[in-house]
Amino acid sequence: MPSPIAVADPQVAELIDAEIVRQHDTLCLIPSENHVSPAVLAATGSVLTNKYSEGYAARRYYQGNAVIDRVETLAVDRARALFGVEHANVQPLSGAPANLAVYAAFLDPGDTVLGMALDAGGHLTHGWGVSVTGKWFRAARYGVRRDTGRIDLDEVREIALKERPKLIWCGGTAIPRTIDFAGFATIAEEVGAVLAADVAHIAGLIAGGAHPSPTPHVDVIATTTHKTLRGPRGAMLLTREQHARAIDRAVFPGLQGGPHDHTTAAIAVALHEAAQPAFSTYAHAIVANAVALGEALLARGFDLVSGGTDNHLLLVDLTAKDVGGRVAAEALERAGLVGNYNAVPFDPRPPLDPSGIRIGTPAITTRGLEPHHMTDLARWIDDAVQAVEAPDTLDRIRGEVTELARAFPPPA
Ligand SMILES: *Cc1c(COP(=O)(O)O)cnc(C)c1O
Repeated sequence: MPSPIAVADPQVAELIDAEIVRQHDTLCLIPSENHVSPAVLAATGSVLTNKYSEGYAARRYYQGNAVIDRVETLAVDRARALFGVEHANVQPLSGAPANLAVYAAFLDPGDTVLGMALDAGGHLTHGWGVSVTGKWFRAARYGVRRDTGRIDLDEVREIALKERPKLIWCGGTAIPRTIDFAGFATIAEEVGAVLAADVAHIAGLIAGGAHPSPTPHVDVIATTTHKTLRGPRGAMLLTREQHARAIDRAVFPGLQGGPHDHTTAAIAVALHEAAQPAFSTYAHAIVANAVALGEALLARGFDLVSGGTDNHLLLVDLTAKDVGGRVAAEALERAGLVGNYNAVPFDPRPPLDPSGIRIGTPAITTRGLEPHHMTDLARWIDDAVQAVEAPDTLDRIRGEVTELARAFPPPA
């Protein structure tokens, strides 16, 4: 039977089918992407998308929310249990709005925020200039050490003492190493700042016990739900009872209108899946694959920022391979390996054509790839970045990649 989309709108149906083929026949190495389960996908496509439910459970501005209240309460309870927090807000529409809600909860415009610099691995919303968080607030930044490629907490402390931020962010988008939440907490306490951990990338690793939890150390945890946590596109704010009201009021009515109830249901499903023992196995397998891929790349003469990884991602500095990040990423895509170009710390090249690529293992681990596959992957990556001007070679690799991809289809 043709899908309702094919009947109603063949053009869109065709595009969705093309995307299904693309996702099946290539390997996704983007560390912030994943393949959700059929159950998460079905919840996302459910009739809950029809409902308006501004407010919170039992405090709505619309009638007809008895079922939605139970869905949201279920998601909240599961988030609290999985991350061991007192309070959860599952309504933020995505990671960036969730982070904005943290500012709205704790800061006034003009207050100082301290975050990791974007070009060192932080996120736009941690006070970078092109983001409103860098325009409406006074932003100070920390980076990584040039010699280690790692965050230096002594430097963070020095900057915090000088800048006196009201809010400190830890976490980011291109940090291949474990985040020392306790170390950040000591600094935040010393300067009297609110400490927020943005674990968008590593939430699934934390849930599965493959990365230490920020819960005992921070005031608020912000996370997306669609990266390693393998849920729908959405976000959560997790906090102590003490901050519950401030966070809830910042999300609604501070920033948002009605929550996306279909997303809330899909978050509930993803949290249920993440609470199963199999998810812990998955989280550890992500890291094992990243470590194996890192070792295979090092053996081929690649230069990894910080020398390797503790988590799901590798930041590869291509300077030694004499190829720019952008052309490398384009060559890799032609070879069926979809990643992204990325700045490396102290990058001399411009942001739109930086020196590195960022590679992650969450999606390929979902498909069932194992450490022994990583030698092939490293070989293909090596061959592809050296074949940026040899389309025939890239197409040859593409054939091998597609063969492996088809042997390990995404969940369906
Ligand atoms: C992905 C990400 C975000 C933003 O999430 P969106 O859903 O894209 O808005 C925020 N912070 C970090 C650290 C991220 O990795």
